[in-house]
Amino acid sequence: MRSISVLGATGSVGESAFDLLMRAGGAQSFRTIALTGGANIARLAEMARALKAEIAVTAWPERLDELRSALAGSGIEAAAGTAAVAEAAARPADWTLSAIVGAAGLPPGLAVLDRGGTLALANKETLVAAGPLVMARAQDRRAQILPVDSEHSAIFQALQGENLETVRHVTITASGGAFRDWPFERLAQATVAEASCHPNWSMGQRITIDSASMFNKALEVIEAHEFFGLGIDRLRVLVHPQSIVHAMVTHRDGGSIAHMGAPDMRHAIGYALNWPARAALPVPALDLAAVGSLTFAEPDEARWPALRLAREAISAGGAAGAVLNAAKEQALDDFIAGRIRFTEMAPAVEHALALAARESGFSQSPRDLEEVLYWDGFARRAAAQWQGAA
Ligand code: NAD
Ligand code: MG
Repeated sequence: MRSISVLGATGSVGESAFDLLMRAGGAQSFRTIALTGGANIARLAEMARALKAEIAVTAWPERLDELRSALAGSGIEAAAGTAAVAEAAARPADWTLSAIVGAAGLPPGLAVLDRGGTLALANKETLVAAGPLVMARAQDRRAQILPVDSEHSAIFQALQGENLETVRHVTITASGGAFRDWPFERLAQATVAEASCHPNWSMGQRITIDSASMFNKALEVIEAHEFFGLGIDRLRVLVHPQSIVHAMVTHRDGGSIAHMGAPDMRHAIGYALNWPARAALPVPALDLAAVGSLTFAEPDEARWPALRLAREAISAGGAAGAVLNAAKEQALDDFIAGRIRFTEMAPAVEHALALAARESGFSQSPRDLEEVLYWDGFARRAAAQWQGAA
């Protein structure tokens, strides 16, 4: 029986994974080692009981007693705190999904790679913040990373049987998010509630707002650069409001292989769960006649400066990915808390990148987790400070 762990089980991706695991037989088909979550203790305990997990971990240390009582009588171990999440990730399992949100996913992701495990990676921040370190660690430990972000799963699938050498460029698509059709002048007034609605995908609040600002696509361009080793000259973004084509690989012979599907994360999660096999999934087949038309447009970088920042971060190298990611997380916290406007997130991130460049943060990519965390802290302070200066 295959053993599995899910980190960030109670989130949007985690719930989709849980749905797939339960439909595939639950505890009868999988030996669940660890499930981790955050503040939603009741749901974490419910999932752990359903999958008969060995251990359930909340990242919030003050919630340990609550988790213990929610698990009373089940024989499931309870633990709490970020170190406990990483320790749970280090427990041997055949397949581990990282569906934690933010840079908090990096230490447990590295713990999976350190034990030579298979890491199904929804947590794009792991690669954005520490791509070279993460890829080198995977290679050293003969660990496997399987992309779960839909665009990266799409590229990965389109590349099966192909050679990266013959790839002219790769295109990932963006829906354009909540404000795609808003008048540009109105963006500065956008509220958190308005930014938290996605036209096509149902996702956690943070990635939904990142879709509206295009920071999600900025992170994904860096993620594709780190995972596939493609230079910025071979990475493109197109706005595609229908979210049916997730990515397209264009070869030197002029042929392009696109990956299409309804916007349902269970496809990408299920592909990674069953890889290299293709199992039946509870995902409806695409009905192109019902969709009617697929449209594409070049992104407007005045509206979405995040895309330019991603390109600059890739060109800069060094700790730029860690800085961009952490500064973005800080700016997003500040926007959600009402401290800055929607349109002030990109300038705050740009400010952090400029300060890090001055501190020679881009001369060398971080060699270990400590160095990543140093630049992460630096970037959060710099982004928060910009808000003070505004
Ligand atoms: P979410 O906010 O819905 O869930 C996040 C999960 O991580 C929850 O279980 C939460 O308890 C846990 N968590 C939060 N903070 C934590 C911390 N500090 N330490 C440990 N655990 C913590 O997020 P989501 O939308 O499911 O996204 C998860 C990841 O997958 C993100 O990296 C996101 O960019 C990526 N992703 C999401 C989607 C999607 O459809 N939601 C699609 C592609 C990629
Ligand atoms: Mg994506």
